Amino acid sequence: MPFFGLSVYGKSFIVLSSFLCGYVAIGLYNYYFITLLKQQLSSLDSGQSQAAVENIIHAANQYTWTGGILVAVLMLLVTATSFLCVRHLVNLLIDMNSRLVNIRKCGSETAECLMVDAIPVVSKDEIGDVAHSVNDLVRYIQELSLFRRTLEGDETPGEIYNRLADVFRKRLKRDSFAIWEISDNGSAIEQIMTYPSELASETCQLNNPSACRAYRTGDSVNSGRYPGICPVFPQGDIMTHYCVPMRVDGKTLGVIQFLFIYVNSMERRERFMADINYAQQYLREALPLLYSKRLAHNLNEMATKDSLTGLYNRRFIENSITAILAGIKRRFSSLGILMCDMDYFKQVNDEHGHEAGDRVLVNLANILQNCVRSSDIVIRYGGEEFLILLIDCEKDMSIQIAEKVRASVEAAKFRYNDLVLQKTISVGISEFPSDSNQFWEAIKFADVALYQAKERGRNQVLRFSEEMWSKGSY
Ligand code: GH3
Ligand code: MG
Ligand code: MG
Repeated sequence: MPFFGLSVYGKSFIVLSSFLCGYVAIGLYNYYFITLLKQQLSSLDSGQSQAAVENIIHAANQYTWTGGILVAVLMLLVTATSFLCVRHLVNLLIDMNSRLVNIRKCGSETAECLMVDAIPVVSKDEIGDVAHSVNDLVRYIQELSLFRRTLEGDETPGEIYNRLADVFRKRLKRDSFAIWEISDNGSAIEQIMTYPSELASETCQLNNPSACRAYRTGDSVNSGRYPGICPVFPQGDIMTHYCVPMRVDGKTLGVIQFLFIYVNSMERRERFMADINYAQQYLREALPLLYSKRLAHNLNEMATKDSLTGLYNRRFIENSITAILAGIKRRFSSLGILMCDMDYFKQVNDEHGHEAGDRVLVNLANILQNCVRSSDIVIRYGGEEFLILLIDCEKDMSIQIAEKVRASVEAAKFRYNDLVLQKTISVGISEFPSDSNQFWEAIKFADVALYQAKERGRNQVLRFSEEMWSKGSY
């Protein structure tokens, strides 16, 4: 309807004009009536009959009535039009207000927030503009709520970084950025991701966190405002960088660096800054969750990793074996189990001290890790006892891998200060499910084979066989 296309001023003008037209119509009518009356009165002379006077009075009455009705109809029309206009405007305002109240009420309840609909934009006037702006605001709040809700379902900090990267790339169309993570004690900085991946070698190469200005100062670093502000940034001539420290609870968890090719255009720079502001809103939503996920992740790492060697410990295997076995069964494959124990390790402690013993264990852990695929799992099972799980191990391959591990240890030189030691290991082998379809029974069988290997003179690998176990079911 063309009327709705008009601005509020336009609508008010039409309403006021209709008032004016009403007044003009009434004025014209009066003018016509008075002129007619004057004509009739001037045609009267003293000899006129009573009937002619009656006629004039009758006509005057008729004019009065029609005039009255005309005025009433016009006023009714004008009032109705004004009422409809005002009602239309007020309804829009009430609608807008109720949605804003709903959004305020829903607070942190994301589900309720997502239910708030957009306001129908029925007019193209200033009210329509307000409706558009309110809808944009509602959509923005909904997007942030949805983002926060999705993050709550994520488990690891890595998933949160990926989620943020998705927002930067897909929503903000930022095509160059890098994310660094700072370790909990603030001693190390690691590049978690760059987009595109080639950027990894082109942006800052940081070995320690304090080299990063954004980390050191705790403030954003904008080379668009101060060119060359950060000497560590290698592409100052061709790229503008904006580095945002990820700060929460007084702690800097990492730094995000946004980049754009240097172009001397005010408009592009303003657009870049608008995107950065938008990105920071998402970051504000993500940071408390990132912090809590990192704490949870670290606690889990502490509980499932051995602090001396950095390998997983026995608790890890207790927590994750169900998932590992489910994969093995699903793929109809096999799990090779190697139980490794250093021979005469106690001698190292006794002859060279506990610290030398620790160093030997760390070296041994590295050797074991390097002998197997990254998909295999090396676990510090006890003091100097290590368990290796060979995932999807082909039949009898476990013997070959165990032999490779044994030979590598035998060939290795364990160094501690000026000391050079040579040590050996014994390895007991079993396979799941061919030896037992009960995981812990298969572990026991590997342990039995290890014991036999020790008995037979150490520095050897021994595959479990049924005659080694006479006790029936485990
Ligand atoms: P075997 O050939 O029969 O395996 O003899 P072994 O000396 O290796 O085995 P034993 O079980 O007699 O001794 C293991 C020693 O490992 C005893 C313990 O003090 C030591 N140990 C356990 N954990 C650690 C550790 O974290 N650091 C150090 N330095 N020693 C450890
Ligand atoms: Mg031992
Ligand atoms: Mg032992």
